[in-house]
Amino acid sequence: MPDFPADSFAAPYIGRFAPSPTGPLHFGSLLAALASYLDARQQHGLWLLRIEDIDPPREDPTAASRILQILDAYGLHWDGEVRYQSQRHDNYLATLDQLIQQGDAFACACSRKQLQNTLHLDGHCLAPVPENPDLPDSCAWRFKVRSTQQEPLCFDDRLQGQFCLSPAQDIGDFVIRRRDMLWSYQLAVVTDDHDQGINQIVRGIDLIDSTQRQLLIYQALGWPAPIYAHIPVAVEQNGQKLSKQNLARALEPDDSGSTLWTALQWLKQSPPIELQQDGNQRLLDWAIQHWNPNVLTGQQQLAAPAQFQRLPGN
Ligand code: GLU
Repeated sequence: MPDFPADSFAAPYIGRFAPSPTGPLHFGSLLAALASYLDARQQHGLWLLRIEDIDPPREDPTAASRILQILDAYGLHWDGEVRYQSQRHDNYLATLDQLIQQGDAFACACSRKQLQNTLHLDGHCLAPVPENPDLPDSCAWRFKVRSTQQEPLCFDDRLQGQFCLSPAQDIGDFVIRRRDMLWSYQLAVVTDDHDQGINQIVRGIDLIDSTQRQLLIYQALGWPAPIYAHIPVAVEQNGQKLSKQNLARALEPDDSGSTLWTALQWLKQSPPIELQQDGNQRLLDWAIQHWNPNVLTGQQQLAAPAQFQRLPGN
């Protein structure tokens, strides 16, 4: 029996799309947006938009507004206000404080180099605990994974089936606040998903390994965990994930109809060809009505359509 079975879900659906503004939206990120949107809308749920802007050195200052503009042009309209993680510092600090109070987080003085091949820092690398975890210091904060937690931690993914990792062997003590004071994705995503009442997460399978880290935080805080569905990722001819780092083509607002149609086909939804010219709203209405995520069961990667792969010469 997995620790987090997928069928224990009964509350009204609240889903989300949570891009990091490190570059413009590309075909790969559109797939996560579209799949999470269709899943939420088919179940008459809410679909929230959260910009995960917690890593300024990696961000493009124009990306967030361009992401919003593209989603809007595609007809992927979100509910409520957009949330920006850059405005949520105090909430992340409260989560960190709670973990520290409970003994689930510790200050770590070791550099990444010193930590090579070390999963558990029991006893060593403990920094003198800073009096105020919000003042710059030379330590990172890590979530404490008990070295006794050998048993696999499993959850039922709606598409990928049961997925297990051993916290002690596969994960180890992981960073929740970086030495440079930036918040880690793991701590921020759990804090916001919990705070926003997110109970269903549809995202790319490239994040599936992060899920157990997130579940460990949920468990430590006694918060109910969401249900997950990890969709396959779009890959280049060379097998690399389509990503901003790999210079995947940016989507443009003007050819949204045919791109949406292609994205639906990629998600194995078989949209009728005549809907290609019918405007985004009709296409999305069709897609909500016919959304069947089960056809993606067990799929981990699929080739990206040629026109959305990286720019020639890159
Ligand atoms: N911000 C993350 C990304 O763009 C996704 C977060 C999530 O869906 O959990 O890769």
